Amino acid sequence: MIEPIEALEIVLKSAKTSGTITLPLTEADNHVLAETITAAHDVPPFNNSAMDGYALLADDIVEASKDNPVELKLIAEQPAGESTDIKVTSGAAIKIMTGAPVPPGADTVVPIERTQPGDGHVGILVAHRRGANVRLAGEDMPKGSLVLEPGVVIEPVTIGLLASLGYAQVKVYDMPKVAIIGTGNELVPVDEPLTPGKIRDSNSYTLTAQTRAVGMPVVRIGVAGDTKESVTDLVNSALEVADVVVTSGGVSVGDYDFVKDVLKEMGAELKFWGVKQKPGKPLAFWTLGDKLIFGLPGNPVATVLCFEEYVRPALLKIAGRDRLLRPVVKAKLTHDVKKKPGRQHFVGVSVTKDDGEWRASVNGRQGSGILKSMAGANGVGLMPRDLSELKAGEEIDVQLIKLPEDH
Ligand code: AMP
Ligand code: MG
Repeated sequence: MIEPIEALEIVLKSAKTSGTITLPLTEADNHVLAETITAAHDVPPFNNSAMDGYALLADDIVEASKDNPVELKLIAEQPAGESTDIKVTSGAAIKIMTGAPVPPGADTVVPIERTQPGDGHVGILVAHRRGANVRLAGEDMPKGSLVLEPGVVIEPVTIGLLASLGYAQVKVYDMPKVAIIGTGNELVPVDEPLTPGKIRDSNSYTLTAQTRAVGMPVVRIGVAGDTKESVTDLVNSALEVADVVVTSGGVSVGDYDFVKDVLKEMGAELKFWGVKQKPGKPLAFWTLGDKLIFGLPGNPVATVLCFEEYVRPALLKIAGRDRLLRPVVKAKLTHDVKKKPGRQHFVGVSVTKDDGEWRASVNGRQGSGILKSMAGANGVGLMPRDLSELKAGEEIDVQLIKLPEDH
């Protein structure tokens, strides 16, 4: 048996960052950028108005006030989306809309709220500095400037930047395709009735959702029965469509735990089986060519935590991410926790931040079968291997899955 840290190292060493692909911009979010983006043109491409108002010369309205409006001749209208050649000269103004090009000659826009529109003319009520309410060409991204570097995770705003620069397609690292398999004769899918001796499959649904939460494409293959044939069938179907296969159940030492036998017969290379951790001791991991196969133990809490600790970082690495692990904070336990020495424990905890100090509480009754204990957990508490007891007030490392709501 190996330590969790060694298991993670083996997993990350086996997980190779994928090649690059070119995707339509509309499908590129969540991917890691694989090219350098420089602005091929100014953004915005031309000087434009930041307000609905009047384009004019600042020099004309130096004396303007409410009591003494400066009257300017209205010579044209400038809507957004059209350019104009009409020149604004001293004593004249053009009505202009937000986003419309500032016409030649004009250097300033006075918002409509500070004017007194008339028929064929407009009264300006307030003096403005030259350049007021004019957005200059290139003020967001000047032509030739470096905008994004490879390695950036494409988020909604990144998509916006790329769109502004005219990238209909973008080069990114490919994401791994993931397939999920449950195993167990006792399992029935959510939409079938429970009969004696059966329980509902939850792991295949949880794992599918966890994969989706990482932002990766995933197929839920289904649930194999506890026979070699059935497990072989589903693993084969999974390997046809996926780069990473995640099974749950059937990797322990029970008479019907066939996942290891099946993968051995398929020629997969077993990288490890057995990790000094609780829950999830029988975790197994194989490679088969370029593919990765995770055999997660079936207990629902073990499944969730093993995905979080091993599968998620591997998926992120394949997708080209730099940051593979959750941020870790030191948090004070709000109560005593007992454990057996010898294995590191991973425990779902609720973390809060009070007066600048992180606190962690274990959620209700623990047990690898008690999925409810993970519900609402926003962190994973790491209970060191050799300790047998942790007292309230002692600090533990907590991997932050989500910031507390009131953070
Ligand atoms: P196993 O690892 O196959 O020995 O399963 C360990 C425990 O997890 C057993 O109590 C199983 O019934 C349960 N289990 C296995 N797979 C699932 C699943 N997909 N959904 C819910 N519980 C499961
Ligand atoms: Mg089983």
